[in-house]
Amino acid sequence: MQCIKCGSENVLIQTEQCNAKTRTRKNGCLWTIGRACLIICTLGLWLIIGKRKATSNTHFVNCTVAVCQNCGNKWEIKAVK
Ligand SMILES: [Zn+2]
Repeated sequence: MQCIKCGSENVLIQTEQCNAKTRTRKNGCLWTIGRACLIICTLGLWLIIGKRKATSNTHFVNCTVAVCQNCGNKWEIKAVK
């Protein structure tokens, strides 16, 4: 393993949690209004659904990250399957 920036072999491999795929989407105004509507329309049923969804949605994606100890460069290593 070599640093792609400075070429140093002093690279630390570590595993990080990245849930980028599910949580990076920003909630717009439309979604806030829509959700408020849903809560009102379903008389709180949405909250129950939301709760149930939250328990089953605790899914984290682990990604391997390499950190160069020489220059501090950090990059993601794609998992080999
Ligand atoms: Zn480096």
